[in-house]
Amino acid sequence: MVPPLRAIFFDIDDTLYSTTEFATLARRNAIQAMVNVGLNIPIEEGLRELSEVIHEFSSNYQHHFDKLLLRLPEAATRGLNRTILVAAGVVAYHDAKFTRLKPFPDVLPALKRLARTSLIRGIITDGVDIKQAEKLLRLGVHSYLTPGAVVISDQIGISKPNPKIFERACSEMRVAPREAMYVGDHPVKDIDPANRIGMVTVLADRGGRHSDEIGRTRAHFHVRNFDQLLNLLRKRFKVSIPA
Ligand SMILES: [Mg+2]
Repeated sequence: MVPPLRAIFFDIDDTLYSTTEFATLARRNAIQAMVNVGLNIPIEEGLRELSEVIHEFSSNYQHHFDKLLLRLPEAATRGLNRTILVAAGVVAYHDAKFTRLKPFPDVLPALKRLARTSLIRGIITDGVDIKQAEKLLRLGVHSYLTPGAVVISDQIGISKPNPKIFERACSEMRVAPREAMYVGDHPVKDIDPANRIGMVTVLADRGGRHSDEIGRTRAHFHVRNFDQLLNLLRKRFKVSIPA
């Protein structure tokens, strides 16, 4: 007998929005802006070098554009003010966040409907707290979440794939793991640990960068979008979802 579902938690990156698509666009914007203020390199070369920097220093490092400039041939920046170059990249990257950070089209309509059910709606995410919080606000999902149901690895000092972060989210919302669903795109970081503590797991497979990773366990359910998620909740978990 399936226990009633009381909570649903979501991952953010590549579950609520396309991280890959956004990053590609924001990086291109940044390099283009640096070229516009004089940086003398082909855009594609700048993009390649920038993705190496991000790979080597992690995406949460604060000085990607400074490192990028250090790596380029001296002729690329000759006679230019390096701080202006860096600022151009930073400004363009932030501009992309203002205008282009958008959830997948089925996300807000689904959350809006879930917000009218009795399910607790939360987030379990890895990352720098302020950056993850900013994403929730910019994506427009925050207002549909249950107050207090957002757990960010940086805030609690535990990060995925440690199952403790999932346990913490459940215990803070006073639900048993088997009464809680987790929806994420990463077989190893999302599905395996949530399975391990007995949550109901849903792999949100939107064909993103982690689609072909193989976890040790399988998700209980697979969905390609949140319309399918709503159907699953309605059919298998008897959640009554308003139209
Ligand atoms: Mg993810």
